[in-house]
Amino acid sequence: MQQHWLVIDLEATTEEGGWPVEEMEIIEIGASLVASDGHELDHFQRFVRPLRRPCLTSFCRELTHISQAQIDAAQPLAAIWPQFERWIGGHLSHLAGWGSWGDYDRRQFELEWRTHGLHSRLADLPHLNLKQRFASARQLQRPVGLNSALQLAGLNFQGQQHRALEDARNTARLLPLIHPT
Ligand code: AMP
Ligand code: MG
Repeated sequence: MQQHWLVIDLEATTEEGGWPVEEMEIIEIGASLVASDGHELDHFQRFVRPLRRPCLTSFCRELTHISQAQIDAAQPLAAIWPQFERWIGGHLSHLAGWGSWGDYDRRQFELEWRTHGLHSRLADLPHLNLKQRFASARQLQRPVGLNSALQLAGLNFQGQQHRALEDARNTARLLPLIHPT
């Protein structure tokens, strides 16, 4: 059976210098479902309204290009989550696992699933740290940022950086170079 991968990227509340993950809250989910050759089969994107700090810092707005109006109009994670689960439900039988650039996205998800008492079928799937995998595949001394990885692969970032779906899609372009299966 053909094996597909889900590449996920999250944007979250932040401030200059960054916050520990416990202080951050998801503001955007981007997911790109790809075949093993990296081409996109389906995608998912939603803004998420954070509950603890619903007002974005100017640093966060500038980093992500996400506006306060987009966040004000968004639903909280508890309402978005069933939509995401319904979406992946249709793809589960082909899904080998999910991946993200680094471990941050997995940690943020796990924290918020716990906080909001949500169940996720992602939790039952293997997670790949694609940043780590890329470093191993390329025999790099240490993992590099997404932009550097793309450059090493002879690619340029396409679209807006620090936007969830665009980050996920650019990460997915590296999948064929990582040979996850
Ligand atoms: P990314 O997927 O690289 O856009 O990062 C995910 C989230 O991490 C962002 O939405 C921010 O909340 C946070 N973040 C990323 N880069 C920075 C930075 N340079 N300073 C502070 N927070 C950051
Ligand atoms: Mg991102």
